[in-house]
Amino acid sequence: MAEAAHVVCRSGHLPGEPAETCPDCRRVRRKEHPDVMVAAPESSRRVNPPPFEETSGSKETTIPTALVRALAADASRHPYESPRRAIILLDVDRTEPAAYSALLKVLEEPPSRARFLLTATRPRLLPSTILSRVALHTVPALSRAATAAALRTRGLSVEEADARAAFFPADAEEAAGLNLSEEREVRDRILAAVSGLFLSRSVSWALALAAVLAEGDGDDAAQRLGLLAVLLRDAATATGDPAGAAVIHRERLADLARLGASGPRELLDAAERALTLAADFDGPRLNVRLACEEFALGILGEMPVLLGR
Ligand SMILES: [Zn+2]
Repeated sequence: MAEAAHVVCRSGHLPGEPAETCPDCRRVRRKEHPDVMVAAPESSRRVNPPPFEETSGSKETTIPTALVRALAADASRHPYESPRRAIILLDVDRTEPAAYSALLKVLEEPPSRARFLLTATRPRLLPSTILSRVALHTVPALSRAATAAALRTRGLSVEEADARAAFFPADAEEAAGLNLSEEREVRDRILAAVSGLFLSRSVSWALALAAVLAEGDGDDAAQRLGLLAVLLRDAATATGDPAGAAVIHRERLADLARLGASGPRELLDAAERALTLAADFDGPRLNVRLACEEFALGILGEMPVLLGR
């Protein structure tokens, strides 16, 4: 939004300088500026979108093709009051593939009075034709504390803000919008299964963990493996951190400390392997279930056999 403010601001002040007093910048921050348009997968994050026909039952996991087409048709419209319009597409790596050609067309011949700002956490998923027409900038991630603080300013309690920020440490929007009870339920099942695996070292717990990880498609599995990696690191941290100050999922501190007692080095190794596998699901399609089983059994295979236990 700071970039968007820079595009539409008419005051001529230095970027970030007196944004408190500048009426243009203030309206951008409040999402009230008529020359700032935001498209996003979730309808709640959109600002001034052009009219389009949204199919009913949209899961809001991708930016609808109809929205991108409407936006491309609307892009040459003149700004209301600023010299230029800011047209923002959030999470453009979550665009329906059919929408890329509409987007490419407008990026190839951008209207003179519009600037496009695209965000993506996984820019490598964008077609090279689009990547070759944009300037890439890396934006530093928010810290978990900053995300929790941002959630508290929306009126959430300290506990709820903390719990939500644990799932999306760098994204207050995602953290605010997530279904907390669902996320907790999945997390607790992953934690129970991985604890069973490390504490009992049995094949049945390895298969139970694989089953939880592989419940959805490759994207879901990648997300759950990411969550598993966070939990494994948390467990490794919890052993030397009885207050849990550095533990992300602090509400499960006791269970994490119990898991941590099984050996921080093995837990960190498993976390690395989970992230490696998660990255594989972005590439050529794997059989999700088999890959998760191989991963979970692999952890078991590489554990030292402790005789006499
Ligand atoms: Zn300004």
